[in-house]
Amino acid sequence: MSQLFPNYQWHSTIFDCHSNNIEQFELLLAHQVKRLKLHQHVLGYVDEINRQYPLAFYQSPSISTSKASILLCAGFHGEEAAGPWGLLNALTQLDSNITDKVNLSILPLVNPSGFSIGNRLNMFLQNPNRGFVYQSGHIQPNQHTSAEGHILQLAQTTLLQASQHGLLTCHEDVLLSNCYLYSLESATSPSELSYQLRDALGKYFPIALNGEIDDCPVKDGIIFNHFDSSFESGLFQSGSQIAICTETPGQQPFDQRVLANRDAITLFINHFVDDHRQ
Ligand SMILES: [Zn+2]
Repeated sequence: MSQLFPNYQWHSTIFDCHSNNIEQFELLLAHQVKRLKLHQHVLGYVDEINRQYPLAFYQSPSISTSKASILLCAGFHGEEAAGPWGLLNALTQLDSNITDKVNLSILPLVNPSGFSIGNRLNMFLQNPNRGFVYQSGHIQPNQHTSAEGHILQLAQTTLLQASQHGLLTCHEDVLLSNCYLYSLESATSPSELSYQLRDALGKYFPIALNGEIDDCPVKDGIIFNHFDSSFESGLFQSGSQIAICTETPGQQPFDQRVLANRDAITLFINHFVDDHRQ
């Protein structure tokens, strides 16, 4: 079978391994899950027959309505490896009592089969970030929905509660040298948080010039309220208050991309920690 997308691999000096080393990723993630006392749930297996490639979901040990509920995601596309590693790096630096301040939920590696070989698609050559169609108050599948997409859609009630106040999903654009982000908000212009996240990425890379990226208008480094059948689009339409998808540039050094993702994730968490809810 011919490949639709090439495999990508980078070396990380920070983690002393290659970007697709899934065993090392899972080992280090397990340390952080234990330290932060997160609860693990396996939502399903991408390879159901062989029970391989679990799609793992982590949550604060107790969920309180007095705190903001935010969902952090990474690794929808397997070649966009600085997302999961940046998330891991951000977890490493969190205070062990962070879950006293925010209801934290995490999907750290949505496409483990693609990540393990550095390919955008999953083992069935499906795109895990398509086929989340908002219809009649629910997210529903279509012919483009992947194995991961079906697993996530079965858990959509949990994921919607988890992302009630905010969703951040960390992607990369392997073809670019510039950074940008997608922002979905119930407003006519991007919020301060969107600009702050853009600037967190802009500390490491040039911000994309005004124009078009993938047929979407980008202004000041932000593609605003673009609705497609992505996971973030489906959850936002279902009721998440804000959904942001960051894009770090795959043409830049890997560890810089890890650090940019770490900073964006940390900023996002702190925004909701500082936003004291009654
Ligand atoms: Zn992506």
